[in-house]
Amino acid sequence: EFISANDLASFMDVSVNEVIKVCLNMGMFVSINQRLDAEAITVIADEFGYDVEFLSAEEEDTVIEIEDNEEDLQPRAPIVTIMGHVDHGKTSLLDYIRNASVAKGEAGGITQHIGAYDVMTKSGKRVTFLDTPGHEAFTAMRARGAKITDIAIIVVAADDSVMPQTKEAINHAQAAGVPIVIALNKIDKPGANPDKVREELSAINVLVEEWGGKYQSQEVSAKTGLGIEDLLEKVLLEAELLDLKANPDRSAVGAVIEASLDKGRGYVTTILVQTGTMQVGDIVLAGPHFGRVKAMTDHRGKKMKKAGPATPVQVLGLTGAPQAGDKIQVMETEREARELATQRQQLAREQSLRTKKHITLDEIGRRLAIGSFKELNVIVKGDVDGSVEALADSLLKLSTPEVAVNILNKGVGAISESDVLLASASDAIIIGFQVRPSQSARKLAEQEQIDIRLYSIIYNAINEVKDAMEGMLAPTV
Ligand code: GDP
Repeated sequence: EFISANDLASFMDVSVNEVIKVCLNMGMFVSINQRLDAEAITVIADEFGYDVEFLSAEEEDTVIEIEDNEEDLQPRAPIVTIMGHVDHGKTSLLDYIRNASVAKGEAGGITQHIGAYDVMTKSGKRVTFLDTPGHEAFTAMRARGAKITDIAIIVVAADDSVMPQTKEAINHAQAAGVPIVIALNKIDKPGANPDKVREELSAINVLVEEWGGKYQSQEVSAKTGLGIEDLLEKVLLEAELLDLKANPDRSAVGAVIEASLDKGRGYVTTILVQTGTMQVGDIVLAGPHFGRVKAMTDHRGKKMKKAGPATPVQVLGLTGAPQAGDKIQVMETEREARELATQRQQLAREQSLRTKKHITLDEIGRRLAIGSFKELNVIVKGDVDGSVEALADSLLKLSTPEVAVNILNKGVGAISESDVLLASASDAIIIGFQVRPSQSARKLAEQEQIDIRLYSIIYNAINEVKDAMEGMLAPTV
């Protein structure tokens, strides 16, 4: 149910004109039937001396979360995503790791693509890999609120350079606060020059350990396997620092990695158990779907009865296909699972009519006024490096004690889908200087309601952001 200016006026027993006038005074232009968001309702009601209490649908939906006691927690395997520029060897690296981990006797089991794999290192430790194609999937999941990855391996081909997608991958990992291990791949190639890559990395503030920086790196060959054991040890070292733990002795909670409909088997969902242990027979709620776990298999097609923390597993028995990044959790009763699933489906239908609201330049003034605005995240794209740097620098300097400007990503080139995804996940605005969004980026931005601002004069870009941050920007309606 949404509340319009008109509804709010009648709740407060004042005329809608008074409401609109009050809004105008605060720099908000609203029309009679305009839907108001929670912030706006609070501020307006406050002006009329009312306190607002929200009973949101999301709140009613909350499934009771079990708090774990510290003593029940046990170490768990790290969950790793491999990212990097196309053709730098992501697939080859993962394939090598997967094949090398096949224990004798287990060989012959045909590996199936299920979107996630766990492997055993030579040192006897388990590592779980998410096989998400590129950082788009990574960020799309994050935009849906799923924090799945513990560590990112960024692959750079040593016979090539730090490429735009390398930078993007690094930005995405950093924006998510995920530690990075660098794999300098294709070291077997005659043209490999890892020092050149290390230097290029240092130029984007990713200084490797050998050079006194904080980023672990490892020369590897996904072809010969050279260095891969060492790479995994470095990942494990990073994992140790993170002190990853979960409680295996509770009902399972996990994340959906991918889902599909199989003609013979029905809905097939790959999930990653994050805490607890999933068992065959469990009743689960996954996003807007539910079901009873009929069977579970690992990525070699082997049947499993139980799956503990950080275990990827394919589940049969859901009544629909949830989206990657949806939460899956075990419920007490089927009735409860069904009710919540139905409720979420309804909510999703309603929400598809009104998309999530992201920050826009116009909105900054209003958020400033109600004191909910602390940082402005910006992505800068431009036609040449010089202007990108100049623009980013000037924007950074606009930071005030109240509002910090963060440049999440800057680069040369058109505004891409990946930029929009990052903006959506991080609630950022995108500033383009002498560049435009690609067709697909524009579509996605519309759908996600991301503010893309295009300029051809640097001075104008800086001034508009400055005005917005001072709450001076005249709202466009
Ligand atoms: P992705 O696009 O990042 O997944 O890259 P791929 O794994 O598909 O690798 C791209 C190409 O590089 C393929 O032809 C691989 O065989 C080759 N390649 C990947 N890693 C290595 C390596 O370590 N050494 C050599 N010589 N070739 C490699």
